[in-house]
Amino acid sequence: MASISFLGTGSGVPSADRFFSSSLLLLEGRHLLIDAGEPCVHLLRDRGNVLAEIDEVLITHGHVDHIGGLPSFLQGCMLLGRTKELSVHLPEEMIAPIRAWIAALYLTEEGLGFTISWNAWKERVPVVLGNEITVTPWPNRHLKDCYHRLPCADPTRPCESFSLEIVSGDFRAIFTGDLSGACDIKPLVSKPPTVLVSELSHFGATELADVLAGATIHALCLVHLSEEYASDRSDLRLRLEELLPNVSDVFLPEDGEVLDF
Ligand SMILES: [Zn+2]
Ligand SMILES: [Zn+2]
Repeated sequence: MASISFLGTGSGVPSADRFFSSSLLLLEGRHLLIDAGEPCVHLLRDRGNVLAEIDEVLITHGHVDHIGGLPSFLQGCMLLGRTKELSVHLPEEMIAPIRAWIAALYLTEEGLGFTISWNAWKERVPVVLGNEITVTPWPNRHLKDCYHRLPCADPTRPCESFSLEIVSGDFRAIFTGDLSGACDIKPLVSKPPTVLVSELSHFGATELADVLAGATIHALCLVHLSEEYASDRSDLRLRLEELLPNVSDVFLPEDGEVLDF
């Protein structure tokens, strides 16, 4: 039994209706927070004691709409008396800046009341989380493509961004994170996932449908929608259902929605 709580389903564009990227996957009794966009700590506070229970934080990449809520998440855990150890998995290049940010915010890791282990993703190397859950980070070019377009961008920065494949027994979930194009996930969908949580702002529905053509997917959840798609969601859903007859269900979850698998 697995469930996904879609905390924030927005893109990087500010919105009154949709918050930045964050999802809570409950799988085999473990609580996995996938991305920590703002205001995830507030949204998690509404869900019972879950702030004390989260086992792992899995960060796809260092854009602010995916990681910007992490310091307030940690401070919130501290203020609510969390004691359980927390594992944070993230791109290696983000570890030192995030730890410096925590220090800059007048917090100390020793003063949080719980231990944090900082774990760097290694491309395509599965991480065993316990309860026979594995997470494999699949690299993509999203961050490179976005960052290198900026004036004065440092060409030596690694720009690591990942899609995450999370497996437990027959259950297989893919969280795309942000992508440079739909083709980034081609190697991930050659074996059918139970659930594919895909962004849809850096490419179009037709491009996604081309990549997914013929793939048998139990549930396709579309998040991080572009402004254009977010304004006409029912049309988008109908279009993808037509284009993808092998996908059992197409969901466009709202913030706060929970889906069981
Ligand atoms: Zn994003
Ligand atoms: Zn991004």
